[in-house]
Amino acid sequence: MQVGDNKVVSIHYTLKNESGEVLDSSENREPLSYIHGQGNIIPGLENALTGAESQAEIDVTVTPEEGYGERHEQLIQDVPMSAFEGVDEVKPGMQFQAQTEAGPRVITVQEVGEEEVKIDGNHPLAGETLHFKVKVDEIRDASDEEIEHGHVHGEGEE
Ligand code: ZN
Repeated sequence: MQVGDNKVVSIHYTLKNESGEVLDSSENREPLSYIHGQGNIIPGLENALTGAESQAEIDVTVTPEEGYGERHEQLIQDVPMSAFEGVDEVKPGMQFQAQTEAGPRVITVQEVGEEEVKIDGNHPLAGETLHFKVKVDEIRDASDEEIEHGHVHGEGEE
């Protein structure tokens, strides 16, 4: 079986940035499972996997355009401390889910001032060229329900 639309694909992967630093890896974890062709993973990786056979090993370089997008300076903003009402202590590096016009977004606290907080709405990997080493583990047909939901059902999951 080959990787194609509406297959559930399990992959082991290592993700490095341009300087060779490991950013993420499935090592010592369950492989990552996703439904191919549904935009569950970044386009550059999804495209590279199309047509791959089980056990195939793939090295792929993903540009920001095919990854997490470019960084946009206008997504770095100062907001009043009152926007964090209910948070005990706001610290640099904290991440929050924020509702925006473009849908839910993860924002990262950059700097904390007396009355204002500088936040960054860019994805942490925006602007990065990413290097993936991937090994295809298993490939199977997605169930009708999985296709309808747009996500993989593991044991006992809905
Ligand atoms: Zn579901």
